[in-house]
Amino acid sequence: MAAIYQKFNEFLLATTVLNRLNAHLMVNRHAASLWLNEPGARLRVTAVPAFADNYIWLIHSPILPEQVVVVDPGDAGPVQKSLRNAGLKLGAILITHHHADHVGGVEELVRQHNVPVFGPIGEFSPGNPERVGDGQVVRLHELGLEFTVLEIPGHTKGHIAYVGHGALFCGDTLFSAGCGRLFEGTAQQMSNSLGKLGILPGNTQVYCGHEYTLSNLSFASVVEPDNRDIQEHIKLAGSLRERGSPTLPSCIELESKINPFLRLGTETVKRAAAQYAGHMLSSESEIFAALRDWKDHFRPSPSNAGTVPA
Ligand code: ZN
Ligand code: FE
Repeated sequence: MAAIYQKFNEFLLATTVLNRLNAHLMVNRHAASLWLNEPGARLRVTAVPAFADNYIWLIHSPILPEQVVVVDPGDAGPVQKSLRNAGLKLGAILITHHHADHVGGVEELVRQHNVPVFGPIGEFSPGNPERVGDGQVVRLHELGLEFTVLEIPGHTKGHIAYVGHGALFCGDTLFSAGCGRLFEGTAQQMSNSLGKLGILPGNTQVYCGHEYTLSNLSFASVVEPDNRDIQEHIKLAGSLRERGSPTLPSCIELESKINPFLRLGTETVKRAAAQYAGHMLSSESEIFAALRDWKDHFRPSPSNAGTVPA
């Protein structure tokens, strides 16, 4: 009788534990879906500076405070250091494109943390990533995070961006007040890609792969000398840099005012690009091509030169 009673008690205990566990999972799942659907929720993202001017981004899980996802770890060292210092755990790696300054640390981080890796479908990247393309969703449910993938070729042929929770991680395609160079793609591809990013909601936070803002702004101010938003932003970005702070994230609304590569349809930009090219330009990709060529040959004034974008 005593044995039956003990078994019954063990059964009760087990179901209680299971119920508690289920309740916990339900709450967490509920929290995740609530958070995902919360329009005002803002991602917590930390910048990890690397090399001369790269930013590696740590996206904090909204439901598990010690977990982060890393975007474009070009160097494992600074990422490991940030994780250690803040007592964080790595949950996943997102790659935007294959350049070494964005993927150089992937293999070491995978070895150390054994986490899933996501990378572009259209090009090879290290760490044996799950290769994702346009419209696919990277679901990291246990972290309460999910990102939609956009294919944005031009800088490289398979470059992708991750969009979610009001944030955009766009690697070397869109920079604040500028854009990436055309290493593998065409002007047509890049202007389409930038067009895709330019129509995201204005308050989308823009996390780029490099701190190029000041040197980009000095080019932008030559393209549009009368653009007040550019002048204002030179002051703001300048004071941020003086304090050693990143000028990022930017947002799409700000970029639509200060970034000549997102303003291809604006009269002033069209006119300036045509003047540089020496002839009329009819399509946006022609305007883009002229601007990009101009920027490639542009040397910023020494006062706000920064580093020359690669
Ligand atoms: Zn790159
Ligand atoms: Fe880069």
